[in-house]
Amino acid sequence: MDLFSLKGKTALVTGGTRGIGQAMAVALAEAGADILLAVRAGASTETKAKIEALGRTCVLYDVDVSSRASIAALVPAVVGRDGHRIDVLVNCAGIQRRHPAHQFPDSDWDEVLQVNLSSVFELCRDVGAHMLEQPVYDGVKDKRRGAIINVASLLSFQGGITVPAYAASKGGVAQLTKALSNEWASKGITVNAIAPGYIATEMNTALMDDEARATSILARIPAGRWGLPDDFKGAVIFLASRASAYVSGEILTVDGGWMGR
Ligand code: NDP
Repeated sequence: MDLFSLKGKTALVTGGTRGIGQAMAVALAEAGADILLAVRAGASTETKAKIEALGRTCVLYDVDVSSRASIAALVPAVVGRDGHRIDVLVNCAGIQRRHPAHQFPDSDWDEVLQVNLSSVFELCRDVGAHMLEQPVYDGVKDKRRGAIINVASLLSFQGGITVPAYAASKGGVAQLTKALSNEWASKGITVNAIAPGYIATEMNTALMDDEARATSILARIPAGRWGLPDDFKGAVIFLASRASAYVSGEILTVDGGWMGR
């Protein structure tokens, strides 16, 4: 199990207040990591309590990823002011906006692209610059300086219906992941993405409430059920840990078999 241990590591996680991001943050803590949670001011402290119940530390940082200025202040606070080394970055914050394409408002387009794609670039850039300055981890084979895990989507590959901004943003996350991997894998930073299938979270309330859509989606999932946040625990620990030291530029689908169909 040492391959999967994150003991002594520190992970910075966005989108960790609920849903998939909460399960990922808790999973990293279960594997031994201390967690820095980048959340909006006044956000729920439920995840922090779950992490501390595991005996790990959890520090909350106020960040609104729809704001470039807010993101720009994060790494200076985490690294410069508080002296943390960030070993793992998980970019999980995301939003959905649904409208027919011919009526899609500029404001929703801009917000989705900023939250789902530009913020991912900005955090990868700022945390990547920090990781590049760090010594490699101990160990003979593990010459890593850090692991970056972005959260993509099935809409990194498919177009979806009435979600053009989301599909464009998640297609961008997949390409950004590969572009950063090409620059940084040789320098000890692995950059991968996890692409969730259809997961029962608040983001999908509209889909789950539409009985016809929900039934047709379920009929196509080979696993025969919608995914749950806990289905992401194994994938995130794998991509954060030594077990994946030679995996980079990969978009790992966790979708109950949807993409194979
Ligand atoms: P949820 O809606 O349950 O959670 C979204 C998370 O993003 C929350 O923690 C939320 O914080 C945070 N967030 C949203 N906007 C901001 C912001 N401006 N600043 C800071 N944090 C913000 O979503 P899921 O757990 O379902 O999704 C997590 C990720 O997985 C997203 O990137 C999503 O696109 C992706 N995904 C989800 C799928 C699904 O089926 N559910 C499928 C494919 C991909 P707060 O609590 O403050 O709102």
